[in-house]
Amino acid sequence: MNNKYTLNYTFVLILVLTVGCGGSNSSNVNTDPVIINNNDDSENISTLYQDFLTPNYYLLEANDSFILETNKFLINARKQQFHHPFEDKNGNKPYTSTPNNSKFTAEKNTGNVTLHHSAVDLYLQNAKTSVNIYAAHDGYISTTKLSGKYRHYLSITKDVNNIKGVTIGKLVTIYAHIDLDLDESEQIWMNNIYVNKGELISKHLYANTAGGPHLHFEIRYYRLNDDGTETFYGIGGPMGNPNLTQSSAGDYSFGAWDPEVGYGFGNPENHGLFFY
Ligand SMILES: [Zn+2]
Repeated sequence: MNNKYTLNYTFVLILVLTVGCGGSNSSNVNTDPVIINNNDDSENISTLYQDFLTPNYYLLEANDSFILETNKFLINARKQQFHHPFEDKNGNKPYTSTPNNSKFTAEKNTGNVTLHHSAVDLYLQNAKTSVNIYAAHDGYISTTKLSGKYRHYLSITKDVNNIKGVTIGKLVTIYAHIDLDLDESEQIWMNNIYVNKGELISKHLYANTAGGPHLHFEIRYYRLNDDGTETFYGIGGPMGNPNLTQSSAGDYSFGAWDPEVGYGFGNPENHGLFFY
């Protein structure tokens, strides 16, 4: 363990000790701090910031092999600190707002099933669409113009390794509601290339996104054997049981993800990104 992480974990631990007791939340998502003890990696992590993991994570016994596997992944994935997607190399970024219903795990009013927003939406002032978007971390880019959920989006995928250097899963960030047609017309086409953290990846938000142009910034945690994008979201699932349908915003068919594919959605705050 290097000094940087020692400091980070010590800081978070102090936060938990001082702030982590009590508190209530109107959401039915369990927002208690997740305390992770993982002897295999000989590190302990505590965090205030609830991820949005597959329902199995909250339902299985603490010593279940899936829980242990997920914890091991989280410990190592959270070591990746993110670059703010609007921040240039000089540390400047435009003013953005994130309404309450666009925050991470905000509840969506959808009738029978409680849906949640598994990402953060960033709005610029005056519905601006022209903005430089930068990679939150290094990795390989894939793009799509065919998503029913997001229209155009770009994703960056990075392996998550354990302390022995063995790859145990994948960290993916999604930059959605962008305009890849406009990017392409300006010779910005990033598909299949490797980018460094902080590198420019897009310059346009889509003007006609419902509710106004915004960047939908999403973090997904994948198990090792899947490199998909939309496949993260399974179809179907236990419709009748609200305890098993902690789904993302949008149609239900997009909302129930398959624990064989992914661990769930990451909270940006666990990667050092705070949006207000
Ligand atoms: Zn969104």
